[in-house]
Amino acid sequence: EYPRNLSVKDVCFIGAGYVGGPTAAVLALHNPAVTVEVVDRDPHRIQQWKSPHLPVHEPGLDALVRAVRKDSEEETQSASQRQQNLVFSCESARALAKADIIFMAVNTPTKMFGVGAGCATNMTAFDGAMRDVATYAKAGAIIVEKSTVPGGTADRVRKMLAASRPGVPFEVLSNPEFLAEGSAIENLTTPDRVLIGSAATPSGRQAARTLASLYTAWVPSDRILETNTWSSELAKLVANAMLAQRISSINSISAICERTGAEVDQVAKAIGLDARIGPQFLKAGLGFGGSCFRKDIASLAYLAESLGLDDVAEYWRQVNTMNERQRDRFAHKVISRFDGNLVGHKLAILGFAFKKNTGDTRESLAADVIRVLLEERPSEIAIFDPFCRADDIMRELKTVCPDVSERDVVKIHTDPYLACSQAHAILVVTDCDQFRNTPGKKPIWTHNSNFVQSCAADCTDCRAHSTRPTTEAIEWPRIAYNMVEPKWVFDGRGLLDVAELEKLGVRVDSVGRRTFH
Ligand code: NAD
Repeated sequence: EYPRNLSVKDVCFIGAGYVGGPTAAVLALHNPAVTVEVVDRDPHRIQQWKSPHLPVHEPGLDALVRAVRKDSEEETQSASQRQQNLVFSCESARALAKADIIFMAVNTPTKMFGVGAGCATNMTAFDGAMRDVATYAKAGAIIVEKSTVPGGTADRVRKMLAASRPGVPFEVLSNPEFLAEGSAIENLTTPDRVLIGSAATPSGRQAARTLASLYTAWVPSDRILETNTWSSELAKLVANAMLAQRISSINSISAICERTGAEVDQVAKAIGLDARIGPQFLKAGLGFGGSCFRKDIASLAYLAESLGLDDVAEYWRQVNTMNERQRDRFAHKVISRFDGNLVGHKLAILGFAFKKNTGDTRESLAADVIRVLLEERPSEIAIFDPFCRADDIMRELKTVCPDVSERDVVKIHTDPYLACSQAHAILVVTDCDQFRNTPGKKPIWTHNSNFVQSCAADCTDCRAHSTRPTTEAIEWPRIAYNMVEPKWVFDGRGLLDVAELEKLGVRVDSVGRRTFH
């Protein structure tokens, strides 16, 4: 059992991203007596968090932030009944100086250059934020690693703080985040577990209890797990590696299915019913994208290698290799359906985000597929995604094909019917419910406040802000009617009911199934 929080008054999050923003909002909601301030060095991002159009799309996030965010003075007067203990700002020095607990929620991507490029973690943002902490944090502050960091980071941070502020007491905890984008608020509200790693000292354990007391405002005590910091840091990497490993495992089987009579969904169901295996993360598709799995596996492999465990490193790297091959296989399957030549053909891409219910385009699977397709000179590649911003799509595309804007081949649409009109092939790349054709099942409609491209942040009445039909279930009969021969639909997510779709006169090639056209 943990005591109710009595001592914590001010909490600071550094990093207003996909993790920092939603986590701070949930923490603020359940701890009304605590002021939670989220700081970021990017003023544009902070401005978005303060506006009606948040920089992150997550189901339930808009309403939550509206309920707890501290607004400007005029708005505050008219909304005094609200909690208002969540603050967004760029004023790190002030926020850090008063914080009892500081959550480090900055980005920790994979190193692109220098020693360890492609496998070690780039700690530039984390270390930069730590320098601010070392400069401004008050004595006795508890510093919490919320970012995913290499094993041993807490030890390194302790040494760094002892060197820059000798004699000043700080505690460093590891409290990795396990939320999944697209269900962040649900995951934060009902977590499977909250992991807290601390130093094995009385003050370390006391700091862990203080942090736990914030969580027990809404998380049952038996869901809080305390470990040492190394175990906690490593457990985060391993959790992602194991999830990714299941995806690569089932995708490797999907490749076998496509060359035989087996159907991967049937195989997955059969093995998932085994209680020792379970059904989760057995959906074959294009593999995993996003900013976490690949880099966390790379970080785990790097750690293994640095410990002289080359076989262990090789084992985990194979999970990433299998993942890359899966999307390559998909793109080449499309090309071979057109006899290796896409000249004169229009292809429509449904979905650009790395998964459903998010507008996050980082490490988009679609971008890699498009890169391969562009090499075969299609006349047009039309992209539609219900949640992604056009500028985010273009930015991500340029990371994999730098000259993309000059080609005038890629077009981004806000209307799925325009995107698919006169297409020779449609590729379903993201697992959005809006793309399903399951008869009798109506997907949930969501108000897409994120799909705003050019209006002012405080605008309330432009067309882009109204509920637009971009997130409705798409009407496949209308899509199929306006396609041109050979009317291929490539389902990279196993999302579509193949028999139903074929009734509309299209040919369907679905991942993990042999196609007989
Ligand atoms: P993000 O890129 O969305 O957000 C990071 C933010 O930190 C950015 O807004 C950036 O401007 C800010 N920042 C960087 N350096 C700063 C500094 N010195 N001072 C102030 N602000 C600074 O990243 P994210 O997706 O929120 O991920 C954050 C961490 O959480 C990463 O370590 C990631 O691996 C981990 N994580 C992410 C997820 C996820 O689904 N995105 C899930 C679990 C864990």
